Amino acid sequence: MHNIAPHASVFGLGKAGRGALNWLLARGWQVSAWDDNEIARARIQSDYPQVPLIPVAEQDWAHITRLILSPGVPLHHPKPHPVVQLAQEHHTPIMCEVELLREGALTGQPHATTIAITGTNGKSTTSALVHHCLKETGRQSEIGGNFGTPACSLPTLPAEGFYVLELSSYQLELLPHFTADIAALLNITPDHLDRHGTMENYVSAKASIFDSTKGKIPQRQTAIIATDDHYTKKIFNNLNDKDHKVINASLENGLVIKNPSLAGNHNAQNMKVAQAILRECGLSDAEIRSGLESFPGLPHRMFVVGTHNGVTFVNDSKATNAEAAKAALSTYHNIFWIAGGLAKAEGIAPLKPYFSRITHAFLIGDAADDFSHYLTQENIPNSIAGTLEKAMQMAGKAARSAGSGVVLLSPACASFDQFPNFEARGCEFENLVKEFISTN
Ligand code: ADP
Repeated sequence: MHNIAPHASVFGLGKAGRGALNWLLARGWQVSAWDDNEIARARIQSDYPQVPLIPVAEQDWAHITRLILSPGVPLHHPKPHPVVQLAQEHHTPIMCEVELLREGALTGQPHATTIAITGTNGKSTTSALVHHCLKETGRQSEIGGNFGTPACSLPTLPAEGFYVLELSSYQLELLPHFTADIAALLNITPDHLDRHGTMENYVSAKASIFDSTKGKIPQRQTAIIATDDHYTKKIFNNLNDKDHKVINASLENGLVIKNPSLAGNHNAQNMKVAQAILRECGLSDAEIRSGLESFPGLPHRMFVVGTHNGVTFVNDSKATNAEAAKAALSTYHNIFWIAGGLAKAEGIAPLKPYFSRITHAFLIGDAADDFSHYLTQENIPNSIAGTLEKAMQMAGKAARSAGSGVVLLSPACASFDQFPNFEARGCEFENLVKEFISTN
């Protein structure tokens, strides 16, 4: 009798899908793949000619032993994607590429420590912060997941190494077995409700980072929770401490660190959670402090592009919802605010407490009319600029005439109406700032 190679179907052929293909092919799996996007399929065809591209309805589901799903594909809401329905009908386990890390680099005993970090905002900053401190103190650390490299593509680390994994709520819903040794939750505010349907579903996806909440076998995981909002507080109170070592990393008794790249209350939360994680990893408080002080910051997150004639230009393109934009709006004063794009359900109402800091708003994208209407009602001066280019020109000139201020791109919206992603939006802003500074 022949040994038949196990067969996986990979759906969604972006970065995560490619990571999964590499992992599966390297281990001799039979693989078929599909993506609804023709361009993504064409790229895979040329890069992986050995992988058959088969429409999901034509795949041999009886023989497929797992579906590796891109976290961007709807699992339940607004309705399950047909590939999800087919997999469910055939009782095929559905997972994302992160699960493969468990089966690969983590199979040996003992194995490297896994650190998983989630939250509505601050995931990337906190993950990068933890990774930076580990590296600075000579530990072996790899960072990936939702951030940068797919988790399953990270190199195998020795037992004393650390995997720092940023995990989104979408990925957390696709991890039937993976549990991190140290799991941290930063905060929860309404977001991604288009994908999760209800706040309850979103909260439960986030809470599933803690292994005991989703029927996973408890492994005495360390659970770290910043209990600064109602939802995280509730999760903290509900965790059974028999299954977890539970650490409350709330903002009370915050850390005082002198680092302009970690300005604002939100970063105080990120630092508190990072500190709790790093203590669990065995770093001393002196090592942690020195790592936090030397953190260089992340692009597109309150990144100071430059200062010219008393005006500071800040790229916070990553603020794709009102909660994230709060961070920058609560840090600066005399703000010439560039906002708009594809609005989230809550719009900009949560930012009302900071409106007095806005000197003038310049609005772009789909949300421009609605935001203008709202700001006008609140007596906040505003103009509809339409495009980022126009907004930057208008905001730059207005701030220059005022003689001081902060031109801040912190859109409180997704970018997809005008840009491929928030990075492209931030890069365009930075180019426009450089052009403005050189010509004014
Ligand atoms: P994520 O990876 O969760 O999207 P980032 O670390 O990339 O988060 O930060 C995105 C934006 O969210 C930042 O520009 C900042 O304005 C805001 N932010 C960062 N940390 C927090 C936090 N702890 N609470 C609220 N907002 C935050």
